[in-house]
Amino acid sequence: MRERDSDGYPAIDVFRLVSAFFVVAIHTSPLAELTPTGDFVLTSVIARLAVPFFFMTSGFFTVTRYAKDAKALWSFEKRTVTVYAAATLIYLPVNIRNGYFKGPWLLPEIIRDILFDGTFYHLWYLPAAAIGAAVAWALIRKADYPWAFAVTGALYLVGLLGDSWFKAAEPVMGGFYGLVFQLMDRTRGGIFMAPIFFVLGAYMKDARIRLPWPLSALGFTLTLAIMTGEALELRALGWARFYTVYLTLPACAFFLFGLLLRIRGRRVRWARSAALIVYIIHPMAIIAARAMARPLGLWGPLVESGPGHFLAVSLITALVAIPLALMLPRHKAGDTLRGRAWRELDTDALEHNVNVLRQIMPSGCELMAVVKANAYGHGEFETARELEKMGVRAWAVATADEGAELRKYGVHGEILVLGYSDPGRARELHRLRLTQTVVSSEYAGRLAQTGVRLRVHIKIDTGMHRLGISWDDAEAIAGVFAHKNLIVTGMYTHLALSELRDNTAYDYTREQRRRFREAVTDLETRGIKAPPAHIQSTYGLLNYPELSEGYVRVGLGIYGVLSAPNESTVLTPDLRPALSVKARVALVRAVPEGEGVGYGGKYRAPGPRKIAILPIGYADGFPRQLSGGKGYVLLRGRRAPVAGAVCMDQMAVDVTDIPDAAPGDVATVIGRDGDEILTAPELAEMSGTITNELLSRLGPRLPVVVRGN
Ligand SMILES: *Cc1c(COP(=O)(O)O)cnc(C)c1O
Repeated sequence: MRERDSDGYPAIDVFRLVSAFFVVAIHTSPLAELTPTGDFVLTSVIARLAVPFFFMTSGFFTVTRYAKDAKALWSFEKRTVTVYAAATLIYLPVNIRNGYFKGPWLLPEIIRDILFDGTFYHLWYLPAAAIGAAVAWALIRKADYPWAFAVTGALYLVGLLGDSWFKAAEPVMGGFYGLVFQLMDRTRGGIFMAPIFFVLGAYMKDARIRLPWPLSALGFTLTLAIMTGEALELRALGWARFYTVYLTLPACAFFLFGLLLRIRGRRVRWARSAALIVYIIHPMAIIAARAMARPLGLWGPLVESGPGHFLAVSLITALVAIPLALMLPRHKAGDTLRGRAWRELDTDALEHNVNVLRQIMPSGCELMAVVKANAYGHGEFETARELEKMGVRAWAVATADEGAELRKYGVHGEILVLGYSDPGRARELHRLRLTQTVVSSEYAGRLAQTGVRLRVHIKIDTGMHRLGISWDDAEAIAGVFAHKNLIVTGMYTHLALSELRDNTAYDYTREQRRRFREAVTDLETRGIKAPPAHIQSTYGLLNYPELSEGYVRVGLGIYGVLSAPNESTVLTPDLRPALSVKARVALVRAVPEGEGVGYGGKYRAPGPRKIAILPIGYADGFPRQLSGGKGYVLLRGRRAPVAGAVCMDQMAVDVTDIPDAAPGDVATVIGRDGDEILTAPELAEMSGTITNELLSRLGPRLPVVVRGN
């Protein structure tokens, strides 16, 4: 699901349109007679930022390391190919008139043009975008950013030496370029030039690059000045084949993009569509300007005069493109919220919590984000992607399948599987670089027998009596290190009573810690270097911050909740709930006194009531225990009690006291509505359970909408 319209990048949208007119300038040379050097700087330097900027923008919005599937790429490819096909058809008559179809090498020529040079002179941009996006996507997803930058950087250099620096390369690489130019006229296309800009755009999004604006402004000014110098020098040397690819261009585009990225606000969708239309039709406008100028007796001002020609072509293009763009059916971002019921992940809250938790962790201790059970119902993909952007590099999941999902989404770093995995999956664990918990010494033996090299953390049982090798079985613990194919990268235990604050709990926790330390010391006396250790989860950190070791495994805290409302902890950082659950009112009906609502007939309207039906039920995770007035939702800032039994997919709420409740209203099941707030811990308590259970049962039927920056 997408963000709202108001989360857009208006400066980027508008600059696309500006860039499109840069391209018009390239093809009309407005300053040629006035100042040839000025015209060169405008059309061969400044305006050359346009296409890289388009590539970067598409990379920013489409290409990513974090994805559940390749849907975003495919829809970009489909759109680009469709636009290309349409544009090709538009220019077909012109091509026919120009005798395009008369050459001797027609078929190879057509293939080469379709793929690389474009079916009309400016249309090369479209296949370049399609190929560049695919190349960037494959590199980023398969090999990650360092490799993606290395490979696309090398391709870019090949492009550079075949373009503006050509004469520098020709003596050595003339033969190679001879071959390249059999395949394509120029090196500016999808193979050599486009990919690096797609990678750069994607990187700015994934790595959340936010340059301070004075830095971007300064960087842009400097790199543009250097690029101008580079171009003028190349012109003086006579090295260039074309003036499209410059050494300084990626840096310049980076700073420009960084500058525009700072401005957030409402999207200017029409400007995006208009930019594309301007780009595609402006050669038509050139033809039209010429066709109109003669009968009107305006050949001089409209065609021969550089500025006049540029303005005439721009005006014709704008007059067609802008109304057309405004007329195009627009798929509003808000549309994605037309669902029946959904979860909202507040990434600002998530980031706030991560920062707050990091502050209370002692230095040298790393946050291991626990994202098991669909990230406690917050959406594993969305949560992990956002946390990784916040620099989280250690993860814990319950099962190997959850770990595999994280890897598929593009998550880096160490992923610890907290639970049991069948040793038969050793190869898969190895391939996905998952770290397996050694749950017993017998299990270590079975893992070792597979012969597969595996990273493991040893779980020590110090009193939880669930998984783990007993703390006093030093022999068995040391035995794990003896298996050559098991690489022990961690050792941990789990506290059983860390959420309680009475003396018994305090003593028990201290004892667990003592046992754990003793197990570690025993190892060291045997000459085995103990690996990084971890002992705390959220409550351990909040109640016993002094026990922190190499990692803390935090689940609840990241999500900004505790197991129950108003729980007291030693440290009370300001944690903010990151999740809301919403459902849309399907209908509002009047129920006469004495009539029932829903299954079972337990509920009888105590008087004439107004009932709203919400399309969310226990299959989505709303507790059935809250049937019949035991729970409520928020609607129009008021509480609406549950009426009748909660069904699998629906529930009824009483809105008699909310007279303006209407179909389409958004009810808040978890979260804030006006002054009212209903938290997950409160909802859990009402239904007789803890937050952890309530959240982990939120069903995958509720799509996740990401909110925040
Ligand atoms: C789930 C889990 C955690 C996370 O606990 P929170 O209370 O959510 O922080 C930590 N360690 C282990 C072993 C777990 O199973």
